[in-house]
Amino acid sequence: MCGIVAYIGHRNAKPILMEGLKRLEYRGYDSAGMAILEGTTGRLRTDRAVGRVAMLEEKLEGRQEFEGTLGVAHTRWATHGGVTEANAHPHRDDRHGLVLIHNGIIENYAALKTYLQEKGHRFTSETDTEVLAMLISELYEGDLESAVQGALREVTGAYAIAVICEKEPDTLVVARKGSPLMVGIGQGEYVVASDASAIVAHTTQAFALDDYNVVKLTRSSLSTSDIHNTPVTPKVTQLEIDLQEIELGGYTHFMLKEIFEQPKALRACVSGRLDIREGRVVLGGLAAYAKELTKTRRIVLTAQGTALHAAMIGRYMIEDLAKVPAQTEYASEFRYRNPVIEEGTVVIAVSQSGETADTLAALHEARERGALALGVINVVGSTIARDTDAGVYLRVGPEIGVASTKAFTGQVTALSMITLFLARKRLMSADQCADLMRELDQVPDKIQRILDQAQRIARITERYIERENWLFLGRGYNYPTALEGALKLKEISYIHAEGMPAAEMKHGPIALINEGMPAVFIANRGRQYDKVMSNIQEVRSRGGHVIAVATEGDEQIARLAQDVIYVPDVAEPISPLLTVVPLQLMAYYAAVARGHDVDKPRNLAKSVTVE
Ligand code: GLU
Repeated sequence: MCGIVAYIGHRNAKPILMEGLKRLEYRGYDSAGMAILEGTTGRLRTDRAVGRVAMLEEKLEGRQEFEGTLGVAHTRWATHGGVTEANAHPHRDDRHGLVLIHNGIIENYAALKTYLQEKGHRFTSETDTEVLAMLISELYEGDLESAVQGALREVTGAYAIAVICEKEPDTLVVARKGSPLMVGIGQGEYVVASDASAIVAHTTQAFALDDYNVVKLTRSSLSTSDIHNTPVTPKVTQLEIDLQEIELGGYTHFMLKEIFEQPKALRACVSGRLDIREGRVVLGGLAAYAKELTKTRRIVLTAQGTALHAAMIGRYMIEDLAKVPAQTEYASEFRYRNPVIEEGTVVIAVSQSGETADTLAALHEARERGALALGVINVVGSTIARDTDAGVYLRVGPEIGVASTKAFTGQVTALSMITLFLARKRLMSADQCADLMRELDQVPDKIQRILDQAQRIARITERYIERENWLFLGRGYNYPTALEGALKLKEISYIHAEGMPAAEMKHGPIALINEGMPAVFIANRGRQYDKVMSNIQEVRSRGGHVIAVATEGDEQIARLAQDVIYVPDVAEPISPLLTVVPLQLMAYYAAVARGHDVDKPRNLAKSVTVE
């Protein structure tokens, strides 16, 4: 959420910052801005634009004053103050010629603003960010780094910031608490960004800031401290992202690319982890905790959004196959309701980015209370990955599409492997485990068979896109799939959709059904198949249009549903890996047909770094 990019070095900053903003645009795109220290005059030049990065690019086109080798740029996802040019970043102070870009929320901004107004500062925006710019200005006595440290000692909330000042033309100060930030180290230059995607084109040497780190960069030096000026040694690592992975590569949207990448992504996710011959799952990340995990008394899976739906499937698997009591909970609720964590509790945090603020807060709470913390994370080296005791990386490659797809199937796959790891140590036979692993191993090919039907799924979807209300219904393992199908449709096509257990419908929501209302049933073969068939009848009797996702070879369902999308047969616990794919495609094609920008859905942003 929100993209930050900053540059200090010997090259012209503007194209580097602009390219960085485009790479980070999936993190926020309601407005954008840039500030550059003009090379010839030494003055700070700032401009901002409401809308996409392209609007800013247009505004800055050909402007000589934006030539310089030090600058900062930002793409915003508004939290405090409307989407206006005045609220867009960078924010300037009113005394020393300094500018600031910020990701996060300064929670005590109101009290600080009153204090600063009393000190004579004049504000021009409604943001919390401008307060921090003014506070640094108030504390500035000729040393930007120490003014930033001083200001950060006064604020509460979350931030990733980059600050530059006319009075120090060879200094860029960046800092973080809660929101992600990385420093890329080049030859005589540094590129700072919210994530690696804006850095890899320039250098692969980088480090992620830890909470309360403040980094001062000059063209020839780098020093890291904390907000109390105690020196810190950063852990520089090698970025392992291939530029190709973060490019569209011929697809019209990242979301479509990522849906189609699922076979390859899931092959990478299971690669080297399924020892079918021995009937055991090899998860290096969990090996050191195997004993503790075997003895666990309860597992709490916590997440938000799509990751929560994956966690719900994980919960069903863990109870069903490993026989460990398990529960799922919104991280945002778990964190603040004073949860009971007994001895032997394992908490699993599920997050694509590894930066989800709510999930991170829940994780800290659980660890504080003595739980063993595991992460199911995609982004290597992300905050949650660093703050957990152990974990399993998804290895599905960078996910840029705001609506998560391959990360969801990656999360379900990783949770299946964790379940088998546990189950095998507790009660499952090697043969049983091998059978399920074989099934898991075949999932990528089976997904490909669904993807081959994409055009047909598009045609089915297009018939219903005028309808403003949809239902998604499933049972058992596919109840969370129904939730995920509804969420996908809402996120990108702005159609109202509700997902629920198929049986729940008759307890109220059935009242919504009217002539022609689309009801998507996940009706693959499984323990509750017959019950789902009855629920389909109930919807049909009331005029609803049933679109069924069913198992190949099921002819009975073709007589009941208006439309059937077939998926290959698969073991029930991992069936969501297949049944979700048609739902992803339906959401995608509905959004395209309704003329929406699939990769930049209204009001959303990727990697939700505010609580
Ligand atoms: N809270 C700040 C604002 O509303 C920063 C938002 C962001 O992270 O983009 O401007």
